[in-house]
Amino acid sequence: MSDNVAIITGITGQDGAYLAELLISKGYKIIGVVKDSANINKSRLEYLSVVEQIEWQQCKLTDENDVTNLLEEYKPTEFYNLAAQSSVFKSYQDPILTLSFNTLSVATILECIRQTDKTIKFYQASSSEMCGNVNSLPITEDSTLYPVSPYAVSKCTSFWLTVNYRESFDMFCTSGISFNHESYLRNENFIIKKILNTAFEILEGKKEILELGNIDIKRDFGYAPKYVEAMYLMMQHKTPDHYILASGRSISLKEVVFYIFDKLNISRDKIVVNTDLYRPNEIMDIYGDSSKAKKVLNWEYEISFLDVLDIIIDESIENRN
Ligand code: NAP
Repeated sequence: MSDNVAIITGITGQDGAYLAELLISKGYKIIGVVKDSANINKSRLEYLSVVEQIEWQQCKLTDENDVTNLLEEYKPTEFYNLAAQSSVFKSYQDPILTLSFNTLSVATILECIRQTDKTIKFYQASSSEMCGNVNSLPITEDSTLYPVSPYAVSKCTSFWLTVNYRESFDMFCTSGISFNHESYLRNENFIIKKILNTAFEILEGKKEILELGNIDIKRDFGYAPKYVEAMYLMMQHKTPDHYILASGRSISLKEVVFYIFDKLNISRDKIVVNTDLYRPNEIMDIYGDSSKAKKVLNWEYEISFLDVLDIIIDESIENRN
């Protein structure tokens, strides 16, 4: 066991689970912060067989006393802040909760670190959604921020708070600006998981068709376990900064859904495009450039998204049987 103690918020989510697995393999003591210790969704951590190595702590991340007590009790060396209301769709349904939690939690954690122990390193999970309506591709660390949803606005605010604490108080505050990254453990609300689940339901005779909105849109999708490696590398680098985490290529939803249906031997006729599901102001194509993370952090990322789909489909088949 090393002397490293990592606090992870959002540990029950996709990234939190993979990050916990990675840090445990490196000898870290892990403190898993949850909003309600009587009601913890441990399924992802159980799937990765790491649940026993986690010390649980209930903490309200928007409460200064709670966060200060957390820092004083565990004396972390690294603080990974992954907790967020993470769905763009839900952020339209509940913009106030999204904005208040996603921004106030970050302000509270940063201020408590500043007052308790400025040597604690802080990682903020930022998002490519912050760039939203862009007019030049690929997205880099220098691209203009132009958020087009309450979620994206909340992530811009928390991103700038992270920059601001780094520059104003000489704190180690770093941030990964991640494009979509997927895995078998991805939250069910997200598009790739939805497509896969419906495909399996069609195979099992539980559903007739898969209805989708605009399948010509192109997105940059990556593989979650590789993205958490970059988060770890950012925290080990001598200087804090922010980095784009992306595969560097975009792929259309059409290509993704055709690939999944062909692989599972489901007729493409069962894919129905419904224009009522088109979003206003839809971004047609977006992809990022991770050259900085590759060069500065030696982050390696070479997997094509079709290979990622193969991994997820195989894992899904194994776990559905
Ligand atoms: P996720 O699976 O949706 O997990 C979100 C986590 O945040 C869960 O552990 C959830 O806990 C926790 N959380 C939500 N509201 C909370 C609250 N009020 N108090 C305390 N915890 C709360 O998300 P993810 O895919 O792992 O993403 C991790 C982070 O990266 C998020 O901040 C997300 O916005 C950001 N991000 C993700 C992607 C991506 O493609 N995955 C891309 C860009 C940025 P419960 O289970 O208890 O609700």
